[in-house]
Amino acid sequence: MAVIRDVMPAFHLLQPNSIADAQQLLQRHGADGWVLAGGLDSFDWLKDRIKKPKAVIDLSGVEELKGVRVNADGLEIGAMTTLAEVAQHPVIKQKYSLLSQSAELVASPQIRNQGTIGGNVSQDTRCWYYRAGWPCYRAGGNICYADTPVGRNREHAILHAERCVAVNPSDTAPALIALDAKFVIRTSKGESVVDAEDYFVGPEKDITRLNILQLGDLLTAIRIPSAWAGAQFYFEKVRDRNVWDFPLLNVASALTMSGSTIDRIRIAVNGAAARPLRLKNVEDAVRGKSRSAETGDMAGKLAVQGAVPLQFNAYKIPLMRNLVKRAITGVANGGMQEAAWVS
Ligand SMILES: Cc1cc2nc3c(=O)[nH]c(=O)nc-3n(C[C@H](O)[C@H](O)[C@H](O)COP(=O)(O)OP(=O)(O)OC[C@H]3O[C@@H](n4cnc5c(N)ncnc54)[C@H](O)[C@@H]3O)c2cc1C
Ligand code: SF4
Repeated sequence: MAVIRDVMPAFHLLQPNSIADAQQLLQRHGADGWVLAGGLDSFDWLKDRIKKPKAVIDLSGVEELKGVRVNADGLEIGAMTTLAEVAQHPVIKQKYSLLSQSAELVASPQIRNQGTIGGNVSQDTRCWYYRAGWPCYRAGGNICYADTPVGRNREHAILHAERCVAVNPSDTAPALIALDAKFVIRTSKGESVVDAEDYFVGPEKDITRLNILQLGDLLTAIRIPSAWAGAQFYFEKVRDRNVWDFPLLNVASALTMSGSTIDRIRIAVNGAAARPLRLKNVEDAVRGKSRSAETGDMAGKLAVQGAVPLQFNAYKIPLMRNLVKRAITGVANGGMQEAAWVS
């Protein structure tokens, strides 16, 4: 169980200044190594003694992992670029405002100044039990403490749960999926590039992690293709408090119109499952339709098909239905909403 101490445990701090050096260090330390980006997720694990790496590989000195590079085909964002920079970058704000909006709604200004885009999409789940060191499925045990009649599961999954009902807490992940971003990963065999939606995994694939990174792998950059530049975007996040809080649910969509009907569309939600979900059935159903209340209603109902509530999170089903409806109709709700009304 967790031993909460506000003191950093001892480990070797390694500070490479190139991707090649960082990768060599990761490979040398294997399961004893830990990638450190902004530290907002990492330091919780270390201070609570739940994860006990012997070597921490701090990426803050790797300049090639930082910054936004505009190119002919869109943008490349280094994994160590801060969320504040992503939120404020003029080209991101102008052409891919879906991403800047989602980054702007992460936590608080201090966290956005320190947290990185690579860390935000690679962060672990916030399930209370797991974070407190309880030996659940995700931690290698054979029980889920959240999925019981009295478990604290208000924040947990309504879709695609399998043994583990934890959710992915990232705000930027669904925006990146809607923008059809590509994630660049440096592995021991070289570089691989995967679609944003394939970066994330659910418990049916691997119950111990939320993404495809294997030991020794580094996420180096995120590429945003120009295909969705200037599209009509919608991002909405629902959380308990108006600052410093993870999403209960969020939705991100990008669409273009042909006359009065939807031509191209991508839509994703997070907070509903262990991975951010691209809603392909919704995309297929609304293409060629108008952005009407009727289309939105139909989309919302489709989005929650198969949803199974736990004891304390049934509110997420109508919430997700309405978020998807609003994303499709484009009827804004201020871009963010508090969930104080949720019982
Ligand atoms: C109080 C609080 C509130 C928060 N609220 C929100 C919120 O509202 N919305 C939201 O989306 N997030 C929220 N967060 C999460 C925060 O934004 C993320 O934890 C943070 O972005 C993680 O990024 P980091 O740079 O600090 O990474 P770290 O904490 O250093 O790393 C996170 C994880 O990713 C791995 N990692 C990081 N970078 C790489 C890389 N390049 N390659 C391979 N692995 C990597 C690390 O090993 C670690 O496992 C909150 C966090 C706190 C503490
Ligand atoms: S929801 Fe997942 S992380 Fe939480 S207790 Fe259950 S198995 Fe563990």
